[in-house]
Amino acid sequence: MTALLLDGAATANQIRAEIAPAVAAFTARVGRPPGLGIVLVGDDPASDIYVRGKVKAAGEVGLRADLERLPAATSLSQLLDVVDRLNRSDAHDGILVQSPLPAALGDEAERRVFDAIHPDKDVDGFHPVNVGRLVQNRATVVAGTPSGIIELLERSRIPIAGVRAVVIGRSDIVGKPMALLLLHHHATVTICHSRTENLPAVASEADILVAAIGRPAFVTRKFIKPGATVIDVGMNRLDDRGAVERIFLPGSKGRDTFARRGSVVVGDVHPEVVDVAGALTPVPGGVGPLTIAMLLKNTLRAAEERHK
Ligand code: NAP
Repeated sequence: MTALLLDGAATANQIRAEIAPAVAAFTARVGRPPGLGIVLVGDDPASDIYVRGKVKAAGEVGLRADLERLPAATSLSQLLDVVDRLNRSDAHDGILVQSPLPAALGDEAERRVFDAIHPDKDVDGFHPVNVGRLVQNRATVVAGTPSGIIELLERSRIPIAGVRAVVIGRSDIVGKPMALLLLHHHATVTICHSRTENLPAVASEADILVAAIGRPAFVTRKFIKPGATVIDVGMNRLDDRGAVERIFLPGSKGRDTFARRGSVVVGDVHPEVVDVAGALTPVPGGVGPLTIAMLLKNTLRAAEERHK
């Protein structure tokens, strides 16, 4: 069996095409486009790429996106001041502070900053008020990665109600909200983590398996029930030839990318899984583009809620 590849990029394009006319209608009605304030602290190259992708994608659907770049030496109170200004801004309906923040800001910095964003402008869905609403199944805004995965499953006509779903990973931004969304869509859900015993045996009961671990090619064929739908959230950059050659077969796209660029992005799911799964999200081109599309959708939603 060769798994059907679930094209996240195409689904993301579809979502963006649906958003654009709604953004135009909002702009005509309110006299300004929905606005997103993005804050980037420091000069982490990966964060820089993500943030530029978000600004570009926002512009393409007609949203206003303002990027505030703050130096790595910014203090927590300076960063909280910027969040406060965006909270009070009429032009900004959504606020996103790019994670991770520089380590020098301290362990508690992310929590303090995310808590400081007004829940109505929290387009990442990380604020405790929005997390609480998600638990109670009355959320208006849910984190982009898990909500994008639900859109992909639904648009791919993969049944969720009644099936066994296993989520590997229990982070606040992916694993936990993913498990809650699957539960609200009536799956029977198991959450696994680094202390789970017999992980491959538990995972192989899943009709839908979501891997959000952050370990390259960790999920091998022994984790997979034949025919299962496998969602690979992982994005791990590899620049070690030995590791790349252990994961990718000669002549594969992964080896080719590594030969050209000196690095390759690998998911949490091993490429061999394509022979066992029924459907699989590729990396790249699976979950990543959906996360951005849902950020745009959340910004539009936040703007519409503010101007009801
Ligand atoms: P995270 O906060 O580091 O959480 C990782 C989770 O995996 C933790 O719950 C951890 O368990 C679990 N885990 C780690 N090692 C394990 C093992 N050996 N066995 C079982 N579970 C294990 O990561 P995250 O933020 O959720 O992100 C996960 C991955 O998704 C990363 O590769 C990240 O880059 C990627 N990501 C992609 C997107 C996208 O748009 N495509 C968005 C967000 C994240 P414990 O809780 O027990 O430590």
